Amino acid sequence: MLARGIRSYHRPTRLEDAMSLAAQGVVPLAGGTRLLASPVEVPNVLDLSALDLMGIEAEEEDLLLGSMATLQDVIDSPLTYAATASLLPAACRSQSVSRMVRGMATLGGESVQGDPDSEVVAALLALNAVYVIAHPDEVRESPALRFLKGPAEDLAGGGIVRSILIPGTPHGAALERAAPMAGASPLVAVVATVTFAGENCIRARIALTGLTTRPARVLEAESYVERTPGGDTALKRA
Ligand SMILES: Cc1cc2nc3c(=O)[nH]c(=O)nc-3n(C[C@H](O)[C@H](O)[C@H](O)COP(=O)(O)OP(=O)(O)OC[C@H]3O[C@@H](n4cnc5c(N)ncnc54)[C@H](O)[C@@H]3O)c2cc1C
Repeated sequence: MLARGIRSYHRPTRLEDAMSLAAQGVVPLAGGTRLLASPVEVPNVLDLSALDLMGIEAEEEDLLLGSMATLQDVIDSPLTYAATASLLPAACRSQSVSRMVRGMATLGGESVQGDPDSEVVAALLALNAVYVIAHPDEVRESPALRFLKGPAEDLAGGGIVRSILIPGTPHGAALERAAPMAGASPLVAVVATVTFAGENCIRARIALTGLTTRPARVLEAESYVERTPGGDTALKRA
């Protein structure tokens, strides 16, 4: 553990207490694989592990993932394969070769951290995820396109990511990565999902890692594929 200067450690069992502590500037701790491994001062720690935010449930056509679900929980749950065309478990497996890290790192921590090479964040963008944020003022729902650009904005004032909703299941998904060697972080990864109505693709989502910023969707490329049958010409343009 590298984080220094811990003076108080809180492990509330009620979300209300957690939000109140977060509003006072106590720093949320999920799996700790980033926060505790960073050489930073973290005087006051808010351990989220007793808040019962680890569940993975199907809700009709949607998938609801607790923010404390680990990358390994996603891989181990049969629900995540059916609801994401196998994309999310593939991204979680690809993210780290270490089962130990995957067993600690959470979807919430991964999302808030938003490293440029995060295949999990790119997959959540391509899956149109919606972030459900418990906030002292209200429960907020923030689409991935907004939340993942700058989570601090939605979390300011005591927000805690409670869950992540994946609405509907895409008809197809793919993750392609270019890495210097198997198991290494990708120089670039492309994640895509498509949904068809009849012959035409009505929704394409394409997200990239390897940028200087957090992973991002490529809206222009998506527009080349949408409203087409997704043939070679459209794919080459994208
Ligand atoms: C050996 C090792 C290898 C790694 N390899 C990679 C890699 O290849 N690629 C990569 O992208 N990362 C990698 N990481 C970094 C790390 O695994 C990820 O950033 C991780 O997903 C963070 O998740 P966590 O649950 O551990 O978050 P934490 O470290 O607990 O928290 C990360 C941040 O998110 C905030 N946070 C967490 N949960 C919530 C919540 N519910 N609500 C509000 N805020 C929250 C915390 O306050 C903190 O700012 C590696 C780490 C280690 C130790």
